[in-house]
Amino acid sequence: MPVLYLLLLTNAVSIGYTHYGIAPDYLTLYVPSVLSIVCLLRALKWLSFRHITFTLEEAEHQINMTILFAIVLGIGFIIWGFSLYAYGDLLHKSHVAYFLSITVVGIIVCLIHLPAAALSLTAVTVVSFVIFFVSSGNPVFIAIAVNFLLVSIVLVWVVISYYRAFSGIIYSRIALEKEHHATELLNNKNERLANEDGLTKLANRRSFFSHLAKLIDDDNSLQDEGREQFVVGLIDLDGFKPVNDIYGHAAGDRVLVDVGKRLTKVLNGTGVLARLGGDEFGIIIDKPLTKLEIKNLSTRFSTAIQEPFQMRSGTAQVSGSCGFAIYPDAGTTPEQLMDRADFALYHAKENNRGSSVIFSSVHEQFIKKEAQIEQALKLAVEQDELQLYYQPIIDGWEENIVGYEALARWDHEVLGSIEPDKFIPMAEKMGIISDISTALFEKAVADVLGWPENIYLSFNLSALDVTRTGVVERFYNIAKKHMVNANRIQFEITETAVVQDLGVCQKTLEDFRGLGFKITIDDFGSGYSSLGHIHKLSFDKLKIDPSFIHDIAVSERGLSMIKTILEMCKNLEIECAAEGIETLDQKSQLLSLGCTEMQGFYFSKPKPMSDIHFS
Ligand code: C2E
Ligand code: CA
Ligand code: CA
Repeated sequence: MPVLYLLLLTNAVSIGYTHYGIAPDYLTLYVPSVLSIVCLLRALKWLSFRHITFTLEEAEHQINMTILFAIVLGIGFIIWGFSLYAYGDLLHKSHVAYFLSITVVGIIVCLIHLPAAALSLTAVTVVSFVIFFVSSGNPVFIAIAVNFLLVSIVLVWVVISYYRAFSGIIYSRIALEKEHHATELLNNKNERLANEDGLTKLANRRSFFSHLAKLIDDDNSLQDEGREQFVVGLIDLDGFKPVNDIYGHAAGDRVLVDVGKRLTKVLNGTGVLARLGGDEFGIIIDKPLTKLEIKNLSTRFSTAIQEPFQMRSGTAQVSGSCGFAIYPDAGTTPEQLMDRADFALYHAKENNRGSSVIFSSVHEQFIKKEAQIEQALKLAVEQDELQLYYQPIIDGWEENIVGYEALARWDHEVLGSIEPDKFIPMAEKMGIISDISTALFEKAVADVLGWPENIYLSFNLSALDVTRTGVVERFYNIAKKHMVNANRIQFEITETAVVQDLGVCQKTLEDFRGLGFKITIDDFGSGYSSLGHIHKLSFDKLKIDPSFIHDIAVSERGLSMIKTILEMCKNLEIECAAEGIETLDQKSQLLSLGCTEMQGFYFSKPKPMSDIHFS
């Protein structure tokens, strides 16, 4: 556009110059000056547009203005040109014709991107030009007019086809931009979905972990300036399952959403809150907090969670336990921090539901010790460090030994003696329990060979042993190898172990019994199993949990519990044994109730084989 105006300006100056003195001054000086000033102003205006990004509306306005100016100026120049035609000789008149045609062509070419302006200007100027010069009667000017008409038609055609191609490019660019925008929106949505918990709209586990990872990364890159502390918290709801069970899943979902909102309110933008799954929430507070501040915060979380939830058919209430880990003391990787916070959470739940625990150096030592024991246990199994002690099982009437219960012992040269209550569950967790059971059973059966024929072996099995395929065959083969009759061996299985996988247990126990082994349900009464479960199982004996024996001497209730169990055994025609007898009183009470098979420190503590002698 500025080039167009410059062109008009030069043309105006040149024709003003050739007609100066021939035509009146107002036509050679004033009119061209006014036209030139307008051209100059428009040129400057267009130059100033170069760094402006217009909105669509603004751009449309400017284009309309340009079209208007093109027409007004075009008409202005044409009229001016026609007025000059009256002065001077043929040469001057030719200059006017030349000036007008070249100006119009120039304008059309410059307005190629604004076809509306170009075409309307062409229409106005070409028509008046042709009429004007054809009516002059001069054959040269008539030829010029025809020539000019043809050139203009060609130009119009060029403008139209050029504009079609030009607008095609623009439209396809717009379409491309739209597509790009849509893809971007879709990407953003996918990104959001991948990082958002669908139910609560909080961050999800994935996003929580990447946030943790980013904080740690950022801190690692700034390590020279010292580590920057932050706090990771886990909140687990207590009593959420009953809400789900009683009020239904939709209500459970609403509780989760509300808990999310309440926690968000407590956090008040000071940290990241995520739902990690189920009824577990995660928190990151990216600044150092003192232990007291953490405790206060967790109290506010607990209070918020404990507010009752209004359900359609009543109110529900849940509480939340919190576990916290502080970076970098508790860990320096996302997994470590989560493990530590989880450990703290576990302890919070264990201590007192709805409480909170901060992972500390005491926990750290505990974990280290635990890891040390795990390592040592693996070696102990390989190096055959586990031993058996035997505790006699007595016939209370006859006061003679009827069997021995084999109990695992582990004496580590550095860690000292470690209780089976500790290392057996650990071995179960590590997946090495069946190796231990097999090795110990070999030892026990080998020992049994030296015992009088009428004394049986009672051997403890883990829940994982019972559910493992091939266990019956393996144990049978071991007994057979040592030529110990199956009917001299009883397997003890705790009632909690049995109910975990009832179907598989049933089969294993039946198979054991089918081969002549006996089955004892250990710790009877301590678990939460129902009689309905127990009665589906095939077994020979119940071993009453020591806690009842302890109660027998101190409470009426304890006594009647034992009476009931004994009565039940009698009716089901199964044997009954009692363990944990520590006093003569307990022994006498049991005898008077009709329980004869007994075991306990009163008779003997478990002893190594070398301390057991048969007369
Ligand atoms: P359990 O099978 O109920 O074994 C009885 C536990 O009570 C033994 O503890 C025994 O020493 C203890 N005890 C016996 N009489 C008395 C008494 O009068 N008073 C008191 N206070 N305690 C008494 P121990 O040997 O520490 O074993 C603990 C548990 O570890 C066992 O409980 C059993 O569940 C498990 N366990 C032990 N050895 C093995 C094993 O070889 N395999 C498997 N799977 N578990 C074993
Ligand atoms: Ca036992
Ligand atoms: Ca027991």
